[in-house]
Amino acid sequence: MNQSLTTLLLATNNKGKIQELQSLLGTLPLRLATPAGIGLSLEVAEDGLTYAENAAKKAAAFCLASRLPALADDSGLEVEALGGRPGLHSNRFGPQPGSDTSRRRFLLEQLADKPRPWQARFRATVALAVPGMEVQLAAGECAGEIIPQERGTGGFGYDPLFLFTDLGRTMAELGMEEKNRLSHRARAVENAIPILVRILGL
Ligand code: IMP
Repeated sequence: MNQSLTTLLLATNNKGKIQELQSLLGTLPLRLATPAGIGLSLEVAEDGLTYAENAAKKAAAFCLASRLPALADDSGLEVEALGGRPGLHSNRFGPQPGSDTSRRRFLLEQLADKPRPWQARFRATVALAVPGMEVQLAAGECAGEIIPQERGTGGFGYDPLFLFTDLGRTMAELGMEEKNRLSHRARAVENAIPILVRILGL
């Protein structure tokens, strides 16, 4: 391993996000670390009023705890017929404690009496925290619709219910490479890369 590379901590405990971020950032001259990989156990309360606030809070907390540059993502699914819910609460939607499966089931229950198509979008904000510097932000989104039956086995979260209407495939039917060309997180990371390059001097 090249010891001179800058280490960037992926400030999330979500395995799905870690895999995507590793693939999205894999071509940069960086050493990517995970909280588990450096023995850091940290849960950050996501009590902000925006994705940006939550992403900044997570990046800053992981950066402070590790003294490493840290990159966090805060994301959510916004469904038009539900007035933008679950949005910021996507990870805590429905009965608690929940799972990806129970959240998908709850989403379909909420939509059952609403006319289709169930237009939706995913949003993500990526935050970069570097010791001694102000947190930097970048956002991305993608549009599609929720379908009443799960399709596909890839990805995580709401992926099996989120259809890219024009493509005719759900996020869970895409390979990692394809999801990483189209997703909200991919777009946010794409917008964050010039910031990473500038701030980390890559
Ligand atoms: P948070 O960013 O940790 O608050 O979690 C966001 C939640 O939104 C995840 O736990 C998922 O339920 C959902 N979510 C965010 N991004 C995706 C995605 O790419 N696919 C499916 N669900 C997602």
